[in-house]
Amino acid sequence: MSDSMVSIRNVTKQFGAFTAVDNVSFDIRPNEFFALLGPSGCGKTTLLRMLAGLEVPTSGNITIDGQEMASTPPNRRPVNMVFQSYAVFPHMTVEDNVAYGLKVSGTPQAEIGPRVQEALEMVQLPGLAARKPDQLSGGQRQRVALARALVKRPKVLLLDEPMSALDAKQRETMQLELAHLQEKVGITFIIVTHDQDEALSMADRIAVMDAGSIKQIAEPDELYENPSSRFVADFIGKVNLLDARVTGISGGHVSTEIKGFGRVAVPHSGTAEGDVSVAIRPEKLVIGKQEPAADPSRPVIAAQGRVVDWSYYGDTSHMYVETGEDRLRLSVIIQNDTRDKVNSIDIGDEVWVSWSGTDTILLAD
Ligand code: ATP
Repeated sequence: MSDSMVSIRNVTKQFGAFTAVDNVSFDIRPNEFFALLGPSGCGKTTLLRMLAGLEVPTSGNITIDGQEMASTPPNRRPVNMVFQSYAVFPHMTVEDNVAYGLKVSGTPQAEIGPRVQEALEMVQLPGLAARKPDQLSGGQRQRVALARALVKRPKVLLLDEPMSALDAKQRETMQLELAHLQEKVGITFIIVTHDQDEALSMADRIAVMDAGSIKQIAEPDELYENPSSRFVADFIGKVNLLDARVTGISGGHVSTEIKGFGRVAVPHSGTAEGDVSVAIRPEKLVIGKQEPAADPSRPVIAAQGRVVDWSYYGDTSHMYVETGEDRLRLSVIIQNDTRDKVNSIDIGDEVWVSWSGTDTILLAD
């Protein structure tokens, strides 16, 4: 088996003078759950629509399952799309909705019933076949839309913001179910989302897009722990971004001088010089009333500051601490795993904030 199900080569899409997708090239593997993630207007839906054949690339090539797409109309592509709005027929029962695509494509009558049943079981909707869409919850309607796409047995399922109409609780349930469903049916899923939690929790790999370009493609933990640019560090999760200067480089570490904090060796495999940024995730920061004790095995950067804001989220608290003459604002997240922690620090308190050099991410871009 080829290790590429979808191959995108130098694909550009222009609408008049505006470039929505700008010379993009990457591969999606068979059975992969792949997410296209990025802010509104970055071109992710346009890219998905080109895979479906609903938009024609201005230049470049798309191959799906070894088949060149340029001369393949949408209905002959081995893909199916689940849209943002569920696109279920309101006047048809669930069963008729799911059967519709098979009937239109001339599937033998005897085959339709069992395949509809199988699709409804996949999305955990058996027993509701006779209902009309208005007798279903938002989550159930979304499952009907999924069953409609899966019943055609596509090689690739394209999902365009499939959960945007669901509330937070339904979304979480649906995210877990979609991930399980993808494992069970073993086909390639490509999801478009602007919701980083959705992408992180479901996808095997994520492509982060900005202004028509791919900024980074990586597994969720790699994107979070090792973002390659300020944009990705900032877009995925919360982050403290600080200005720094490279003062030396040796054996997998870069010596940096972080403005307002001092010198620290940061792990980094590539080259770096001059002015850079460093990123530190808020949960990697340690906050306390005492100056952290020196520990040669774990060099830390420590700074004194004042708590200027504090939000309680039940499981965590988010604090903002201003440090130094420039009153740099650091975001700190602490786990409220003991009751004492919640009340131990308050707005206005003088505190020490510290973090380890190994938790500092150097961003050359
Ligand atoms: P969102 O999350 O808001 O859906 P997106 O990343 O999916 O955003 P696209 O829908 O791909 O973004 O649009 C990318 C850019 O291309 C946007 O600036 C959009 O206005 C523009 N665009 C999309 N379709 C057309 C069109 N048919 N004609 C002109 N411009 C278009």
